[in-house]
Amino acid sequence: MAETGIPMVKALSVTKRFGTLAALDDVSLEIAPGEVVCIVGPSGSGKSTLLRCINQLERIDSGAIWVDGELTGFRQEGGRLVELTDRDIARQRLASGMVFQRFNLFAHMTALQNIIEGPVTVLKRQRRDAIAEAEALLARVGLAEKRDAYPSELSGGQQQRVAIARALAMKPRLMLFDEPTSALDPELVGEVLAVMRDLARSGMTMIVVTHELGFAREVASRVVFMDQGRLVEQGPPAQVLGAPQQQRTRDFIAAVL
Ligand code: ADP
Ligand code: MG
Repeated sequence: MAETGIPMVKALSVTKRFGTLAALDDVSLEIAPGEVVCIVGPSGSGKSTLLRCINQLERIDSGAIWVDGELTGFRQEGGRLVELTDRDIARQRLASGMVFQRFNLFAHMTALQNIIEGPVTVLKRQRRDAIAEAEALLARVGLAEKRDAYPSELSGGQQQRVAIARALAMKPRLMLFDEPTSALDPELVGEVLAVMRDLARSGMTMIVVTHELGFAREVASRVVFMDQGRLVEQGPPAQVLGAPQQQRTRDFIAAVL
């Protein structure tokens, strides 16, 4: 699958502790460009922590993470590893776009203003170009007519679609979704999953933490099951969701269905 042979994400023996708790315990994972990996598992199993470590919202305690071939958080200097500055970490973080459970739109900005904010202020794009791209992104998520609406005037599903457009406006190489539909009323889940399905088909590399097993079955190239900070089982959706090898995976799937 990987055209270059370089994984989009490589995590090697990653451990992340909060006090004495190992939120991630020796996690290794490789994701090729274009893959859609769904991460499932019980609450507290480390799913959010894994995403947050991949895009450096958290600092790992041991192991290493590469994004698109670049070691995150450190640089080589005379055979030693030196921690990156905040500025360099901010630059690395641009490789991934993140969509959270809560929509996190800027309340005082319209849909369009939310989307152009990053391109204009961070990427120093021309405002005119940023607006044209934002309009195209709004059309892509089915919200062209909501260009000038404020978040309070949008449904949860619409806000989440704007949040996806806003992340895409930064031209990430990787998209991370942390339970993007968990806060939505049931009737609004489908419209967000449809946007994510289109994004997957466009070839975007995606890591999706979700309890939507139907989406995982249909869209994921691979499903990863986590429990207690460990990666317990992974494989094609039909295998992990349909014929899980591990008892913990079976118990989880039985509880979610
Ligand atoms: P999940 O997303 O699978 O529900 P998390 O990654 O959020 O799990 O959390 C994994 C474990 O780490 C949980 O036990 C959680 O309580 C703990 N944890 C997460 N973030 C923090 C934090 N900032 N401080 C202390 N403990 C945390
Ligand atoms: Mg979580």
